[in-house]
Amino acid sequence: MSVIPARPSDVLGASTLDRAHEWLIEDLRALIRIPSVNPPEPPAHDGERRAADAIAGLLAEIGLAPQVVEPYPGRGSVGARLRGDGTGGDPLLLLSHLDVVPAPADGWTHDPFAADLADGYVWGRGAVDMKGTLAMQLAVIRLLAGEARAAGRDPSSDPVPGQTRDILFAATADEEAGGFAGAGWLVDHRPEWLQAAGALTEAGGVSLELAGRRFYPIQVAEKGFAVYRIMVRGAWGHGSMPRPDNALVLAAEVVRRLAEPGPIRLTPVMARFFDGAAAALPADAARLTRAIAGPDAAASERALEALCDPMYARAARALIRDTVSPDMLQAGTKYNVIPGEAELIVDCRLLPETDEPAMRAELERRIGDYLAVCEIDLVHYGPAVESAIGTPLYDLLETTIRDHDPEGVPLPAMPPFATDAKHTARLGIPTYGFSPLRLDPEERFLERFHGIDERVSVDALRWGLPVLYDVVRRFCG
Ligand SMILES: [Zn+2]
Repeated sequence: MSVIPARPSDVLGASTLDRAHEWLIEDLRALIRIPSVNPPEPPAHDGERRAADAIAGLLAEIGLAPQVVEPYPGRGSVGARLRGDGTGGDPLLLLSHLDVVPAPADGWTHDPFAADLADGYVWGRGAVDMKGTLAMQLAVIRLLAGEARAAGRDPSSDPVPGQTRDILFAATADEEAGGFAGAGWLVDHRPEWLQAAGALTEAGGVSLELAGRRFYPIQVAEKGFAVYRIMVRGAWGHGSMPRPDNALVLAAEVVRRLAEPGPIRLTPVMARFFDGAAAALPADAARLTRAIAGPDAAASERALEALCDPMYARAARALIRDTVSPDMLQAGTKYNVIPGEAELIVDCRLLPETDEPAMRAELERRIGDYLAVCEIDLVHYGPAVESAIGTPLYDLLETTIRDHDPEGVPLPAMPPFATDAKHTARLGIPTYGFSPLRLDPEERFLERFHGIDERVSVDALRWGLPVLYDVVRRFCG
């Protein structure tokens, strides 16, 4: 005999969930067809604004009173509120971003902005980052607004039946370039769009198979970033007489030194992640998992190679250390002129508790005696953020995942990249990456982000929708 836990989504009935899933797929495809590319480029310079307007139209159609802001031309964001009766405390925020990274069509199986539905996937730029989750959030809003209307209520002003907290929905511009024209602007100018007891946004709650077990890392922290410009000074000269102080030759050595992986440092969140994973794994895999997180870098590397495919190994390496990636190098004016200077741009990602001075000190340590020819300037900086694990909302995320996949193991985790959580952190809002998807074990999900042939599985979205609905209903009920 099995006991089926009471899930609010079970009450909806199969046909209502099917209809909501259809909305999700239709909305996702419509959003992919709006090329909201960031940085904006003609002819799509106002893609974010058009995406915001499309969503506002849809929200108005289902009875809400959405608002659109456009702080800079073409850079639109949309927000809406779905009311509870006010007895449950502060709202829940469903936060997403409208923008996508550019997608030159070369190499794609399907046009990146055609939103083809083929082989069980919705294809296109933004399918995973993050219009799929955005459409899932919209589907939950559609369901709740429908429940209000079915009870004879006006969803723009009346509470949804059984809902005690407000739900805030915000889909914002500019996340892919730092969020300053989107979530960052809202924090400064429309904090009431965001102020909540907790927020759910992208990139966590996606299944990951390891040694036959299925895990759901829930994003509770994110790395910070520091971008540096390093000017390497050498001597100008004639290309017919090579010299070792050619700035490009010096820069090549600086790049080599910077690219060395740094020491391992385990943050509390990642320690809990590796402990939790090891506890759920068979003995051999558990031993390797502990070695990955251990202080011995060589043993960690051997364990990564034995346990993980290269995609996950790259991510894991980045989660246990501050990283340095030299990404741009410019020098030279003519083929026969030895360059006297070279400009190097370095992308550093910081663990929680590594601050900017510490990162700079690490760069200086790596560059060593070549510092004499280098001048280091900070270009951008955003600190790491961490949300508490012990909150009722976080507990609910774990419980609800388990209710929908009893064999799945939810764990707190940190992704190697940044999201808009750095902005909501300024308002003190615990923000979790939660876009529930149960993937086929073969799915190369991490490679889909910003990648060629970005696509999301229709079945994975079908699994995730009632999970997100249950989280929202339970937290706001
Ligand atoms: Zn994203």
